[in-house]
Amino acid sequence: MSDSFFHPVSGFDLPRFAGVPTFMRLPHVALDNPRLADVDIGLIGVPWDSGTTNRPGPRHGPRQLRDLSTMIRAQNGATGLRPFEMLNCADLGDVPPNPADIMASMERITAFYDQVLAAGITPLTAGGDHLTSLPVLRALARTAPLGMIHFDSHTDLFKDYFGGTQYTHGTPFRRAVEEGLLDPSRVVQIGIRGTAYDNEDRDFARAVGIRVIAIEEYHARGPADVMAEARQIVGDTPTYVSYDIDFVDPAFAPGTGTPEVGGPNSFEALLVARLLEGVNIVGADLVEVSPPFDASGGTAFLGVSIMFEMLCNMALARQRRGATIADCPA
Ligand code: MN
Ligand code: MN
Repeated sequence: MSDSFFHPVSGFDLPRFAGVPTFMRLPHVALDNPRLADVDIGLIGVPWDSGTTNRPGPRHGPRQLRDLSTMIRAQNGATGLRPFEMLNCADLGDVPPNPADIMASMERITAFYDQVLAAGITPLTAGGDHLTSLPVLRALARTAPLGMIHFDSHTDLFKDYFGGTQYTHGTPFRRAVEEGLLDPSRVVQIGIRGTAYDNEDRDFARAVGIRVIAIEEYHARGPADVMAEARQIVGDTPTYVSYDIDFVDPAFAPGTGTPEVGGPNSFEALLVARLLEGVNIVGADLVEVSPPFDASGGTAFLGVSIMFEMLCNMALARQRRGATIADCPA
């Protein structure tokens, strides 16, 4: 059971447009707050898009995601789960990036997550562009490589950009495999589509043993069958979930920098996250929401709704583990 200090503010008590908007109306517990030791799941903003190769904007993501997250209620409408009563959840604030220095920003992000993990907290990140996942994984995979379930229209496995630049939002998982942060045999990428430069990223995936489920296969099989395979690939090993909002069709999620048509609708976007039930999630992120392209706020609302579904399954996973990543079998 959770401590009432960590219960979100209800829309029955304070109108949802009022008050300071933290993630899901949870208490803000900064890293120097004495209550940090009591937090089980921490929601963290990474307002950073220095890895973006095309249309920028995800640096503004955490603020808009927090604003739209005031519409999230305490109970899962489909499963009845009440995650904020199962565990202590809190908004840990933002990692302060250096928008002019990619390497310094990545070091800051990893250092922040080292502190989060040292406090025994399971992190749920709101990006930020997809390069954000790399410095987070550097902290999470210190003891052993992780499995990963990755929703995206892109593999983000590219070798480099612009004549040798290693760190962009198109390269995080290539680097993560090279650095030994991911076990490629326990990685599955779902939703891949769009025009391509060439086959280099897919060839790399095949060579190292990453399972790529392209959108044609996804639509042919349906979300339940695809997610059953994804759960089987990661088994009960410690697993990271990375969710790029451009997995969703741009008709439902236009607020992103690199949209690709032909994707899942917003119902399926939630369903695949709900079907993570049983996965041993040790961390998750929702990235690439770009408020400058999200005039209605609808993309951010979908983003936080996905975060809530992931949070529910993170709470279940954490209860099953009974402790922190350090206690998990590799
Ligand atoms: Mn991505
Ligand atoms: Mn993408």
